Amino acid sequence: MTERFFGHIIDGEEVPSADGGNFEVWNPWTQDVWAHAAEGGAEDAARAVASSRRAFDEGPWPQLGRAERAAAIHRLADLMEQRADELATLDTTNMGKPFAQAKHDVARSVWNFRFFADHQRDHRGEVYPMDSGHHTYSEYGPAGVVAAISPWNFPLMMASWKVAPAIAWGNTCIIKPSEDTPASVTMLGRLAAEAGLPPGVLNVLNGQGTPAGSSLTGDDRVDRVTFTGSSATGKRVMASAASHLAPVSLELGGKGANIVFDDADLDNAVHWAVEAIFRNSGQVCLAGSRLFVGSGIYSEFMARFVEAAEALPIGDPFDPATKFSSLASKKHFDKVSSYLEGVPDDGGKVVTGGIDESGRWLVRPTIITGLPLTAPAYCEEIFGPVCVVNRFESEEEAVALANDTRYGLNAMLFTENLSRAHRVASRLRAGTVWVNCFFIRDLRTPFGGAGDSGVGREGGDFSREFFTEPKAVVMQIQR
Ligand code: NAD
Repeated sequence: MTERFFGHIIDGEEVPSADGGNFEVWNPWTQDVWAHAAEGGAEDAARAVASSRRAFDEGPWPQLGRAERAAAIHRLADLMEQRADELATLDTTNMGKPFAQAKHDVARSVWNFRFFADHQRDHRGEVYPMDSGHHTYSEYGPAGVVAAISPWNFPLMMASWKVAPAIAWGNTCIIKPSEDTPASVTMLGRLAAEAGLPPGVLNVLNGQGTPAGSSLTGDDRVDRVTFTGSSATGKRVMASAASHLAPVSLELGGKGANIVFDDADLDNAVHWAVEAIFRNSGQVCLAGSRLFVGSGIYSEFMARFVEAAEALPIGDPFDPATKFSSLASKKHFDKVSSYLEGVPDDGGKVVTGGIDESGRWLVRPTIITGLPLTAPAYCEEIFGPVCVVNRFESEEEAVALANDTRYGLNAMLFTENLSRAHRVASRLRAGTVWVNCFFIRDLRTPFGGAGDSGVGREGGDFSREFFTEPKAVVMQIQR
């Protein structure tokens, strides 16, 4: 047993599993077990739900004034800021992302808490004057107990997207981080206790999808289920929550289209094409993994894109020079590798990259051309640093290619033609479209996907809709 241990955080205390079970936590760069975490079972999940239920039903959290609740969440954000290096170290060690990116993720997580704390504090309701001599006003009370389940690619940040709006709106929450990355979210639970959040307002349950996650989603004491992860798991989560009619918010996979028109600013388009598929080693739901390039610039664009991909500094994620590192786990390395192994048989050409020969769980920045539109590597989410490229002749063809997918999370387009930018953005089937940029997010705006990319939207008032139980109060004004 290593010294480092991540327990569950239940009722403000860090506790082991009821049966004493635990699992190994890996460092994917060194390929060592560097910690253990509590292996949550049905009994631990039931205990966490009971704690959050009590904290909701008996208070004080849901009844606190908005300013007081905001202040408590800002105290948590302050602690996260003070301990940012520690949190980022946990994510880099546990997941292998470059340390500078992990620091950036912590800053964005802090901002999520601050944003939603203030959003609920400053929120205004609506009043509907009625001709009948009444008026109706809306009230947005907390929904109850929220089960939140998060993936491993942005361990702290994905959890914060869920936890922050959930608790800001007066709910209590149990977060189950991915079994691959329990570290930073467990620390978040410790910091919540230190910040003085009442016991049970934020519980952390560690463990596998089944039984830990599925015990939460199927528990009829849970009022909301918010999930980020793969489309396949999302369907299971939705079915489980349906057993007790808990509303679900699902942020699922993607196969983002990136369209570069002939009139694009090439420096900008190449820069973002590289970021869009190779940031976080491509382990990004929003990755621009299908790239469509106008035939007039195809040769020049490809030469520059390949050169930029090959220039990315690869190495130890704690080395400040590193921009690109290993994949997050052996299991994930095997999955990405299996897609690459199928490419030659499907008629694709690996222009650069491929599986690294070092024995690390490393796939180099990979660019593939020539794949048929039905090949698995072309149409399925690989969730790795693998970009498939096609050329197009017309705007019509670019839009058709981009929309030819079961996913609908995001798309990007690069053009200097303003009319085309608006026209194409409007025709793309995607929850977010970036024009001449990538990865910019305003937390007030809707975020989510269509088709296999999810159900519902999060962000600003969209999060309020999900995490509250809106009520209409009808007042008689005239007798
Ligand atoms: P995953 O679906 O394997 O696991 C996600 C989480 O679900 C983990 O915590 C896991 O333990 C849990 N889980 C697994 N089975 C469960 C079950 N039956 N019941 C309840 N919980 C269960 O996904 P992953 O590999 O961790 O993450 C990668 C996926 O996440 C990719 O598809 C990626 O696109 C997606 N993702 C989407 C977004 C978004 O905002 N749309 C953001 C990040 C990642």
